[in-house]
Amino acid sequence: MPSLVPTPITLLAPYVPGAPIEQIRREYGIDRLVKLASNESAIGASPRVAEALAELLANVHLYPDPRAHDLRAALARHWAIEPGELAFGNGSNELIDLIGRVFAAAEDHVVFGEPSFLCYRIACVAGGIPFTDVPLVDDVAWDVDALLAAVTPRTRLLFLSNPNNPTGAYVGEQALRRLLSELPREVVPVLDEAYAEFATAPDYVSGLSLRHLHPRTIVLRTFSKAYGLAGLRVGYAVAAPEMIGWLERLRAPFNVNALAQAGAIAALADTAHLARAVALNSQERERVAARLTELGFAVAPSQANFVLVSVDAPSAQAYEWFLRQGVILRAFGPPLSHHLRVSLGSPSENDTMLEAFATFRTRAANATEPADTARTTP
Ligand SMILES: *Cc1c(COP(=O)(O)O)cnc(C)c1O
Repeated sequence: MPSLVPTPITLLAPYVPGAPIEQIRREYGIDRLVKLASNESAIGASPRVAEALAELLANVHLYPDPRAHDLRAALARHWAIEPGELAFGNGSNELIDLIGRVFAAAEDHVVFGEPSFLCYRIACVAGGIPFTDVPLVDDVAWDVDALLAAVTPRTRLLFLSNPNNPTGAYVGEQALRRLLSELPREVVPVLDEAYAEFATAPDYVSGLSLRHLHPRTIVLRTFSKAYGLAGLRVGYAVAAPEMIGWLERLRAPFNVNALAQAGAIAALADTAHLARAVALNSQERERVAARLTELGFAVAPSQANFVLVSVDAPSAQAYEWFLRQGVILRAFGPPLSHHLRVSLGSPSENDTMLEAFATFRTRAANATEPADTARTTP
């Protein structure tokens, strides 16, 4: 009997997101829960967003602006670029999928890092596109030379998460310049900058200012993280008009809803709120990393709003242990089978999380660890 779905689809497993609070509350019967699993904003969205959405609620029977004219104009002003250099997605996730479908096919090849954002892999597997996942140094730090070395004559796309999810590592200006300069012209560099606002390293530079080094560069940004609009779903691509034109051919009409467009405009305008989110994150990132290090955990240097922590236990078991303490973290499969990713929350959420890590440390010191049998990601 012929297969119901094409082979690439049979190779996919459903994406496993950070567990929603309500689900854990139901399943575990825990009341006091702290969710630090999805890199959401610690301070939420600007209050101006709710005001902008309220004004729109009477008009939800109307289709959204398919060209996102006002948001496009606001972002063109914000970045001093042409309106035609922007494409919008239902979250930048949708754009990753779109880029995979538009710029690569089964006879091509894609390069990305490992561990890095899972959606690059999903886009490749779904499209039956061969790929090379280039190991990060010690599983946490970028190696630009290794990325370049993985490029073949068939390579059409290179995805770089900068800063990287889930390790927090970044590619500094010099290395990024080299990557863009040396990457063959027919390869599209996709610089996924979902966490760019949180990067404070003096040599972190956005691909937005280096696009001239590779004319096909696509920079991805999102309102989900620093702007706190994860629930609205809006992200965008910045690229040459020709590149945007190709994306527009396959973009679903009305993919960014009216509330998302208005919310993003309001969020973009509240620069003080963004500055508060970034300042708090920097403070907490330093404090949390220092405390975890003091407790004896190895913490990967992070430029994002999360830290990757090594735990002396299989990550699936550690994840489960923290869950029972009311702290939802994120576990991954190999090569991060002894790591947890900890999103940075409010100071009090982080305190709760740090107390749990302190308890975890004593527990690990006193208890005999069960055999390392866990293979699955929760
Ligand atoms: C969160 C994230 C995104 C996209 O999030 P959206 O909510 O779909 O905009 C993209 N890339 C990376 C690396 C992320 O961590």
